[in-house]
Amino acid sequence: MARYTGANCKLCRREGCKLYLKGERCTNGKCAFDHRSTAPGQHGAARKKVGEYGRQLREKQKARRYYGVLEGQFKHYYEMAEKMEGITGANLLILLERRLDNVVYRMGMAASRKEARQLVLHAHFTLNGKKVSIPSILVKAGDVIAVKETSKESVKIKALAEACATAVTPKWIEKDAANLTAKVVALPAREDIDFEFNEQLIVELYSK
Ligand code: SF4
Repeated sequence: MARYTGANCKLCRREGCKLYLKGERCTNGKCAFDHRSTAPGQHGAARKKVGEYGRQLREKQKARRYYGVLEGQFKHYYEMAEKMEGITGANLLILLERRLDNVVYRMGMAASRKEARQLVLHAHFTLNGKKVSIPSILVKAGDVIAVKETSKESVKIKALAEACATAVTPKWIEKDAANLTAKVVALPAREDIDFEFNEQLIVELYSK
């Protein structure tokens, strides 16, 4: 399965904001963006005039990189969002938020979405009692995500469980940290997504 393997911090510098791609490092004072926020590359520090297309493209890349989704997959989510009732931009963000790797991250079982994706790929979780290993599965209201019984003994999972107990979970996820489970009590709404996105720019980009 294809995935981005380059330097994560460069992506934050490219997008001009912290995307929180490296877990603890993003908040413990070692963040590369806090020390150098200019775009990567030889001319990264040069002031560049960004046109309408540039702003639309950057917003799309920001959302894509924040959720760790490749280009084709992102376009697929956009096409799904277009066919749904409601506002396309909000639908797009809600679809991304419903990905299983994002839910694992939101429940506090991983320090980053990348780590959550790895945990799901290694089949450490069940969805409604069945083993899953597909990070892109979209959760529904009522779904229950749980750490697999045999995985609870893993040293890594035990360490993550401690972090899970104190993690703040969004209101659409009901977490039972003692049992390492989480229930999706409702689908997320646009206002539940606390990162700053101008999704209208993404819609304009794809509508050309
Ligand atoms: Fe981005 Fe985190 Fe790297 Fe900071 S440490 S630049 S927030 S990935």
